[in-house]
Amino acid sequence: MPDRYGRPPRGVRPTPDRDSKDWWERLAGHEFTVQRCDTCHTTRFPARAFCPACRTERWHWEAVAPQGTVESWIVNRRPFMPGSTEPYVVVLVRLAAVPGCLIHGGWDGDGEPEYGQAVQGVYADMGDDLALLNWRPAE
Ligand SMILES: [Zn+2]
Repeated sequence: MPDRYGRPPRGVRPTPDRDSKDWWERLAGHEFTVQRCDTCHTTRFPARAFCPACRTERWHWEAVAPQGTVESWIVNRRPFMPGSTEPYVVVLVRLAAVPGCLIHGGWDGDGEPEYGQAVQGVYADMGDDLALLNWRPAE
């Protein structure tokens, strides 16, 4: 499905694993979640089986606002994948909900982002069962 600029979808479909399968399903429903430990309440992302802070395996999904700040970005000018339209920007975002967590995604803003810029996630539907999270300047 083309994005809002009519560009074809880029990239290869992700392959959910045991720990990330539920996360991808929630993202397809436009819900951004992180894991929260039931013992020490630490948030974490990406999904994993146990808490890196206290090593317990009891946790739950917690819906959070997909917000953060730009840590870095690249402008890709090489055609790595069929159907991609270069150049495009891939942004690295410091996630507000999980201290120390960096997440990457496509840039859905004009031009290039700026370091430290506040951003919010944008759900990019890639079919009935898949959405990706891109980023644009926060409103
Ligand atoms: Zn914990």
